[in-house]
Amino acid sequence: MPHPVIALALSMTSTLAAAPSAEPSVRYESPDSPRAERAERLLKDDDVLKTGIRLPEPVKIVARDCDAAKARWDHDKREITICYSLVDKVRETIKGISQTEEIDEKATRARMKGALTVLLHHQLGHALTTLNGMPDDEGQADRFAALTLAADSPKRVVAAAEARHLLAGHAGIDHLSGPEGGDPEKSGMEESAAFACLLYGADPARYGKILKGGWVPAERAPTCADEYNRVKSAIGDKFGS
Ligand SMILES: [Zn+2]
Repeated sequence: MPHPVIALALSMTSTLAAAPSAEPSVRYESPDSPRAERAERLLKDDDVLKTGIRLPEPVKIVARDCDAAKARWDHDKREITICYSLVDKVRETIKGISQTEEIDEKATRARMKGALTVLLHHQLGHALTTLNGMPDDEGQADRFAALTLAADSPKRVVAAAEARHLLAGHAGIDHLSGPEGGDPEKSGMEESAAFACLLYGADPARYGKILKGGWVPAERAPTCADEYNRVKSAIGDKFGS
């Protein structure tokens, strides 16, 4: 059976509603420490885990306490876990960077929201990969993540590209740190540049700040719209009805 869902999920917001399955459900387990409570509040206040992306099957998104600061997709359970400790780590790291750069509260908050949105969409990317019968793969998850993020949260695209760029050089932030959680062939900076290029390529006129910020290298920028369209149509060809 073909899987038209990806093509639908990845085109425009208007077609998201046409996909057969539901948006993922979101559940918060009760946090067991003040840090975890703070993480829960950060997620809830900005509704970071809410997405209009429809997946081929019902999927649960669960925020919870975990042993390690991770986010993960469990194909058998059809469940994405976002650990409070990872959210707290993102918060702390962004806060530290922003204080050094003397960035104000509002911009800091936007960066945090951007980073957490990337975390979520990367896991949605894993879900889309395996639910469509493809072998799980970091690069593929990331490409899906860029496409779903651009379709689902256009207002967070610039902050997402910036946050990922900022976090790429920091260790221990799950996939956002780059090689340890991602593709061993690539550095975190390469991964973040590839991700920023796809986001920028989704709408270069709208997302010019990604280029100005230097989050996608200037020499690569002219090819980003093509890269985005190639990824999008490759997905469409493979799964289109
Ligand atoms: Zn991953």
